[in-house]
Amino acid sequence: MSEIKETVFSKIIRREIPVDIIYEDDLALAFKDIQPQAPVHILVIPKKPIPKLADVEPQDYTLVGHLLLIVRHIAKQAGLASGYRVVINNGSDAGQTVNHLHIHLLGGRQMKWPPG
Ligand code: IMP
Repeated sequence: MSEIKETVFSKIIRREIPVDIIYEDDLALAFKDIQPQAPVHILVIPKKPIPKLADVEPQDYTLVGHLLLIVRHIAKQAGLASGYRVVINNGSDAGQTVNHLHIHLLGGRQMKWPPG
């Protein structure tokens, strides 16, 4: 397990930094990315401060499934019927900049492959 440190997302969860909230429940929060890379760019995060996907433990499996179902729910609400991309950057080589697990939901434009 990576060391759990305070991140900008901890402040967002505590409402110390304003964000455009799309969804919230006891376990998770979803909000608009501040630097959107697509017409729809939403981050889905657990309230539990798990630094990255590699730190997920067996007791978190239900939580991770819950996060993916939230992604699906939001994508449907956003009308992304023709498709969307789901991204988890894990660690520095992947470009992870905030050390609090988060799922990017990107949609509203044609995506390219491979990603940069
Ligand atoms: P990563 O590069 O996968 O770690 O993604 C972190 C994401 O958090 C980036 O897309 C940032 O634009 C986003 N982000 C960082 N700070 C904020 C904020 O204060 N509000 C909303 N999104 C943020």
